[in-house]
Amino acid sequence: MAENRMLKFVTVSREMPEKREAAVRAQDFSEIYREFSAAKAEQQAARCSQCGVPYCQTHCPLHNNIPDWLRMTAEGRLQEAYELAQATNTFPEICGRICPQDRLCEGNCVIEQAGHGTVTIGAIEKFITDTAWDNGWVKPIRPGQERSESVGIIGAGPGGLAAADALRRAGLQVTVYDRHDRAGGLLTYGIPGFKLEKDVVMQRIRQLEEGGVQIVLDCNVGEDITFDAIRGRHDAVIIATGVYKSRDLTVPNAAARGIVRAIDYLTASNRKSFGDEVPEFDSGELNASGKRVVVIGGGDTAMDCVRTAIRQGAQSVRCLYRRDRANMPGSQREVANAEEEGVEFVWLTAPRGFTAGDAVEGVLVQRMRLGAPDATGRQSPEVIEGADYAEPCDLVIKALGFEPEELPALWGVEGLEVTRWGTIKADFRTHATSLPGVFAVGDIVRGASLVVWAIRDGREAAESVLNYLGAPQRMAAE
Ligand code: FAD
Ligand code: SF4
Ligand code: SF4
Repeated sequence: MAENRMLKFVTVSREMPEKREAAVRAQDFSEIYREFSAAKAEQQAARCSQCGVPYCQTHCPLHNNIPDWLRMTAEGRLQEAYELAQATNTFPEICGRICPQDRLCEGNCVIEQAGHGTVTIGAIEKFITDTAWDNGWVKPIRPGQERSESVGIIGAGPGGLAAADALRRAGLQVTVYDRHDRAGGLLTYGIPGFKLEKDVVMQRIRQLEEGGVQIVLDCNVGEDITFDAIRGRHDAVIIATGVYKSRDLTVPNAAARGIVRAIDYLTASNRKSFGDEVPEFDSGELNASGKRVVVIGGGDTAMDCVRTAIRQGAQSVRCLYRRDRANMPGSQREVANAEEEGVEFVWLTAPRGFTAGDAVEGVLVQRMRLGAPDATGRQSPEVIEGADYAEPCDLVIKALGFEPEELPALWGVEGLEVTRWGTIKADFRTHATSLPGVFAVGDIVRGASLVVWAIRDGREAAESVLNYLGAPQRMAAE
């Protein structure tokens, strides 16, 4: 009986897949967690108590049917588990790897709250889908019926690709435009391989292309083709361009050589992992090898930079963050991984300026304390006067967050409304913008967010596009 297999949380402890030794994994860009064995995945899935009201599912942005695919995994019915997992998630193997589960599904697991340690939902979702790939259960899209209408999607990140997948399944003609030479957005050029190996992303892109999604690369909308031309070519358009304008520092010497933006640094490193020629890496400009590195910021991007610098062979890596560990936005799991790998976090510190000759030589660090809570209830950092010190360094990486580019101005589009933060104004359910037939999803609407939210937006926008286009028309060629 199925029930007998479940509810094992009292006798079976929580286990994550084995983590590679810190000293070994810090030498390469491969993922740090090994795969569960089938027996281990079954055993861990069986810890689920099959809640009548599953809070894990409520707090997953995709409302994945977690209890059911856990039960199927526990029963060894992996193909059914995969079918169920992929029914609500376009890229389950990616979310299983990089969702901040401690804040989403796992953070709301009731057995965690009862003191037993959460079900390892993310690792099991990854296991199910990796198994599906290994066994050939993941097939290219074959729409039941072709439709003549076409949709243009600007941006081949998770938001744009999730929409492309859903629209192509419905038989539409889908073209995705991206300014980069590879699709995937931040999955490809932002997030490092030690969190998400690039083969995992590329196999998805191949699957989409084999299913008939056209991907036009090296095509910067606004430069190589106008937005109006894209609108003219397609019956509906989805904007999924992400946010790439890096927040900057306005302190003395902030423009010195050797002070670089996180996105440039991570892109160069990811390109190197693909085997590309990267002159800025080879020249040392975007390479931490042998250097004393300071990373400024406390979010996930900063965590990715410090751990990349370790892997590039930095002499030392320090992360300055103006709040403390408890109040940082980045994942605690990633901080722990970084510390194991040799990163030093210097909490409650911020740069006052830099010393520089030909290039940066040091950071003037000011010490902070947490003061009264601000309007959001979060304690604001305050400077402790007279407590500054100098931190010598050779490379500074600024990871202070991202803002949207001014798309209407960049693209010369009238009538595309934006919010006061510069993100595109779109209905939160239909994702319709102020322009008819134009929808927007992912970070360009939400501001810097998460992959799982971009996937949800993409899937929902695809539904709205289908509603907008109405009943199928016959293919012109028929
Ligand atoms: P993107 O992934 O940014 O894709 C947008 C695409 O649009 C890009 O390929 C870009 O080249 C293209 N584009 C932009 N402008 C144009 C134009 N004019 N013409 C043509 N193409 C254009 N989220 C997690 O859930 N877990 C994590 O661990 C995590 N780690 C992260 C680490 C880093 C370093 C960063 C920067 C982000 C991380 N995120 C993480 C956030 C996550 O990557 C984003 O929320 C997600 O990728 C947003 O998806 P998107 O499709 O909206 O945009
Ligand atoms: Fe958890 Fe993310 Fe998977 Fe949802 S998609 S179940 S939040 S890992
Ligand atoms: Fe299972 Fe935890 Fe979800 Fe309950 S909340 S169904 S125990 S995974």
